Amino acid sequence: MNAARLLSVWREPALTHPVLVLESDDWGADAPGRVAEQARALYALIQVLRSIRDATGRSAVMTIGLVSGIIDREVWRKTARYVRLTLDHPSQAAVREALESGIAAGVFAIQWHGLEHYWPPALLASRAQPAVRRWLEQEAPTEALPDALQSRWVDGSVLPTQAIAGALIEQAIAEEAACLRRCFGRVPTVAVPNTFVWNDDVEAAWRRAGVEWVVTPGARHTGRDAQGRLLTDRRWLYNGAPSATGVRYLVRDVYFEPARGHDPQRLVSGLDRQVRAGRPCLVETHRFNYLGQRGAQAREALRCALEMALARYAKLRFAASEELGAKLLDRDADWVRPPRLAHCWTRLGVT
Ligand SMILES: [Zn+2]
Repeated sequence: MNAARLLSVWREPALTHPVLVLESDDWGADAPGRVAEQARALYALIQVLRSIRDATGRSAVMTIGLVSGIIDREVWRKTARYVRLTLDHPSQAAVREALESGIAAGVFAIQWHGLEHYWPPALLASRAQPAVRRWLEQEAPTEALPDALQSRWVDGSVLPTQAIAGALIEQAIAEEAACLRRCFGRVPTVAVPNTFVWNDDVEAAWRRAGVEWVVTPGARHTGRDAQGRLLTDRRWLYNGAPSATGVRYLVRDVYFEPARGHDPQRLVSGLDRQVRAGRPCLVETHRFNYLGQRGAQAREALRCALEMALARYAKLRFAASEELGAKLLDRDADWVRPPRLAHCWTRLGVT
């Protein structure tokens, strides 16, 4: 046990009541042939979220880790040129409208998740790989790309992965900010690094573009080694932890992916664990669960999990990451207090 970890356990504030944040990444720009299906899934989720309310009357809310662009495969096939289809392109209108509808209903909150869910030069450098060639030829979603290429903030065309020049990162984040502003009139204050790989250059550029919070799994991945395994720096990130770049961190470490067989009880058990530690429960539940034929089953599992959570904790509150961040920063006494000894023991895994 090192001193930094002990200190982080004590420094992380505790919450005065259970808080549940649903976080869903990978929504947004997609191949035109896949847009209608995604829009249907978003509208169906809006119905589920609107139907469930906490004791204060607040609807369940889902943060949307938004991918703002994808390669225009039609142009690619004809000219072998990389042109980006962004969310404000007419082919993406149905998804954009579904997102706007969820935001207006107070059940969606958008977050940065990349202008693409890959680094375009790395994708193109890998185009001879059979999996990438197929991906470019078909209408496949970015979830189907090889893992290393789904990281946006390293060059995953080679292993170990290589760093991207800071100036290119700065430019890419400025372009993403412009796209988010065109689509939604503002830039979100929360960013989710793709595959949780990022560095200080990314953080600093995000901060300059208006990001205040970075969602993490409690650690920072810096790239992949020669075998493709994720590398982690040795910091302990906790909810509210500050970074030298000016952003602060949130920790998302409860996983609810019904398409992988996770049942509602899994989410509730994760909530139990976080409540004992005085922590918010940030739940990771990706887009892929809610698409296609199994989407209805996943939505039902989500509804059931949220109802079970409310039945178990009468004081449970739903929140978006941005709202939680504001409460942590303000030390809002209705939400935040210093941790009790029991919270610290739980955080250390002693109880
Ligand atoms: Zn993602």
